[in-house]
Amino acid sequence: MTIEVQHIRKQFGQFTALDDVSLQFPDGELTALLGPSGCGKTTLLRIIAGLEYPDSGSVLLDGQDSSHRHVRERQVGFVFQHYALFKHMTVFENVAFGLRVKPRKDRPSESQIREKVKKLLELVQLDWIADRYPPQLSGGQRQRIALARALAVEPRVLLLDEPFGALDAKVRKELRRWLRRLHDDLHVTSIFVTHDQEEALEVADQVVLMNKGRVEQLGSPDQVYNNPASPFVYGFLGNVNLFHGRVTDGVLASGDVSFQAPQHAGVRDGAGIGYVRPHDLDVERYTPGAAGVVAKLRRAHAIGPLAQLDLERADNQQIIEAVMPNERFASLGLKEGETLVVRPRRIEVFVDEGNAI
Ligand code: ATP
Repeated sequence: MTIEVQHIRKQFGQFTALDDVSLQFPDGELTALLGPSGCGKTTLLRIIAGLEYPDSGSVLLDGQDSSHRHVRERQVGFVFQHYALFKHMTVFENVAFGLRVKPRKDRPSESQIREKVKKLLELVQLDWIADRYPPQLSGGQRQRIALARALAVEPRVLLLDEPFGALDAKVRKELRRWLRRLHDDLHVTSIFVTHDQEEALEVADQVVLMNKGRVEQLGSPDQVYNNPASPFVYGFLGNVNLFHGRVTDGVLASGDVSFQAPQHAGVRDGAGIGYVRPHDLDVERYTPGAAGVVAKLRRAHAIGPLAQLDLERADNQQIIEAVMPNERFASLGLKEGETLVVRPRRIEVFVDEGNAI
């Protein structure tokens, strides 16, 4: 099912939770709604579900205006962060629940229910604990059961609100991979809310970056990470170095150095900020006359296969973070305290509005 929201607005008293949000969720794709706490992700998900109604704007399901349709008519499945499984029911009965409460005319027979629940438990790889009760399960197992339960009624849309939020980092990572595989098997149009950028970039087909009730950017993980549309997106999706300065005719002068701004940069003249990811910096030992930012190596440490370098700019003492493969770092033989020269391979320049991240 395709989902489209058009010009959605939602106020809670004086507070604007959603401010003219328009988005498309393609059929069979997995979309991540990503953004800081309070930006409106859950509210948007609830509006798509029909648990909440917008003040204005429309929700289209397969092209049909469904803004006023009741949640039960929308064929959505949900999984929430603290999904309350029924404690007094076995895993099997929890998954069967949605089928058992169907109106009599749509309700499958007992043998059909047994068959279906068995298949779903196999799908989430938990058929071996069908007879257990929820308190006897780990957090990750509970979330997988919650998913099986949501899938039992064959929803046309699956909505997940921070489904792995309450779990520890290692389990989260396993479950995300697993969710991706499950989605690849089933192709149910799915939207999941997260404030974890790594989770969104790793799992989703498309990512929606939200901030203060508005959409900042929609794109593939690669697009939003490598071509951020705004300083907010740059800052939210990973570490970034800022080079404050003045732009004159497309050249950013920052301290003793200048950088050519990309053609599409939003500023040609005026106060500007260059944004450079740590892995987009070339670092070399300083030689007189070398072009680039002169900086001292303050600290270097390895994180897995990467070396992370903290450098202090000679002209303004700003700390710059650079990342390079450990092998390269070792081959350069750099020592803490040495003077280096740093050159961005890639820089984005935005207008300095005084509220940079
Ligand atoms: P989080 O990541 O913290 O869950 P979120 O992006 O999902 O945040 P929402 O839950 O959509 O944010 O809430 C958006 C804003 O609307 C928040 O400031 C919240 O306090 C407010 N809000 C949400 N629901 C209500 C409500 N029923 N009444 C009043 N304010 C609300």
